[in-house]
Amino acid sequence: MGKQVKLWKKYSLKDGVLVKRSVFCPRCGGGYIMAEHEDRYYCGNCHYTQFKT
Ligand SMILES: [Zn+2]
Repeated sequence: MGKQVKLWKKYSLKDGVLVKRSVFCPRCGGGYIMAEHEDRYYCGNCHYTQFKT
């Protein structure tokens, strides 16, 4: 069950379909989606790195 809870955190349900949540760069604004890595998010525009907590 633990794995499933993690999945629900990462994905949101939209119209019955699981949609991956996009993380936007706090520096560049809503238009810039941060690339997701194993332990962090990375903005290719300003190189901002946000570690997952
Ligand atoms: Zn950025």
